[in-house]
Amino acid sequence: MKDLGLVSEVFDSKSIKKLKGKAGIGHVNYTKKITSRDYAQPHVVSTSVGEIALCHNSAIINVEDLKRDLRIKGHVFLKGSEGEVMAYLIADEMERFHDILKAIKAMMRKLVGPYCIAIVHEGRVFGIRDPYGVRPFCIGELTNGFAVVSESVGLDVLDAKLLRDVIPGEVVELTENGVESHQMMNRKNKALCFFEYIYIARTDSKIDDRFVYEVRQRLGARCGKENPVDAELVIPVPDSGRSHAYGLAGETKIPLVEGLIKNRYVYRTFIMPEQRTRDISVREKINPIVNIIRGKKVVLVDDSIVRGTTMRRIVQAVRSAGAKEVHVRIGSPPLIAPCYLGVDLKTRDQLMAPGKTVEEIGESLTADSVGYISIDGAVDAIDKPKADLCMGCVTGKYPVNVPFESHRFQKSLDQYKEENEG
Ligand code: SF4
Repeated sequence: MKDLGLVSEVFDSKSIKKLKGKAGIGHVNYTKKITSRDYAQPHVVSTSVGEIALCHNSAIINVEDLKRDLRIKGHVFLKGSEGEVMAYLIADEMERFHDILKAIKAMMRKLVGPYCIAIVHEGRVFGIRDPYGVRPFCIGELTNGFAVVSESVGLDVLDAKLLRDVIPGEVVELTENGVESHQMMNRKNKALCFFEYIYIARTDSKIDDRFVYEVRQRLGARCGKENPVDAELVIPVPDSGRSHAYGLAGETKIPLVEGLIKNRYVYRTFIMPEQRTRDISVREKINPIVNIIRGKKVVLVDDSIVRGTTMRRIVQAVRSAGAKEVHVRIGSPPLIAPCYLGVDLKTRDQLMAPGKTVEEIGESLTADSVGYISIDGAVDAIDKPKADLCMGCVTGKYPVNVPFESHRFQKSLDQYKEENEG
């Protein structure tokens, strides 16, 4: 059962009761624009080995090559979605191996790019994570079974216990008796998206044994240390900058106040398509509390700056509210390159920072000063080896070769395949 709209619009208690069975998968789309329910997940694909139900969070870089190969083999695509490609790859390999695990392994070797996949085939449920582990994926135990979810908070709402993260390159099968593990691919270095810790994951999530809230506090503290400022108030940009702001205020001993109030009935601007819609929305979205701000030197703290539209408007609003000085501190290094690995930052012209100095960014934001955390500072705050993180959007170096980007540190597709043999 699937449709367009909010979960609460698609499902109600009556429709949920109609869903019978002992295994299931589900998907909520967040950023991708979908205009037809046919593109909504899960996908159910009829293949020569029966129906495969599949949902995924992925950005398959070589998807067009895979489609072409599958078409040559006679597969006809109904929608041409990545899910359909994955299902046909499995079906194809099933004809060769007659074993779903071997078929999944063969599919994994062909997919280049990040993916977390949940599959139901003939009553068996599998969770699959790409060998780089770009996106989080974890396993939980319910009172009467097991679950794999893309964020640990999904387990919290089910009152389930977080067991562990799915290991990059691992396939888990959820059975009545437990979780069976099959390590299909091994890479020396992983590439967890560092932006999950900065912005994407919910603050109450836990990724790789690190609480996102605590990481964000450390990011803010480090940013404060690296970019000292003479100010009287730290003001978080709600809600994205709050945990970073707590960290920065703790480090700098500048008092934190909630000087900006968010209108909770407006959607996030990040996912709105039109620049005009974004401009209007930002004005309506956040309102300064004048009597807190008037006459003060303030530091605004946010997690990141994408286009700069929101931050510029906020700086101007805080100035109009009578602030003496407005400084900006950001808990991420400048975003200078697109993301090809699943985050909706497709081109450099969608970003504010490429080609600009920090001073120029400050001028553009009309702020008295701007300070970003350094790349090494962010790595320290996340507390994982730099070699195990993807930081492509702040370094321009990606863990796999991607179209239209060339960089001496990138790996070629052949190198990728070679490293992932086994
Ligand atoms: S390029 Fe940036 S947003 Fe994309 S996966 Fe890498 S770190 Fe995450």
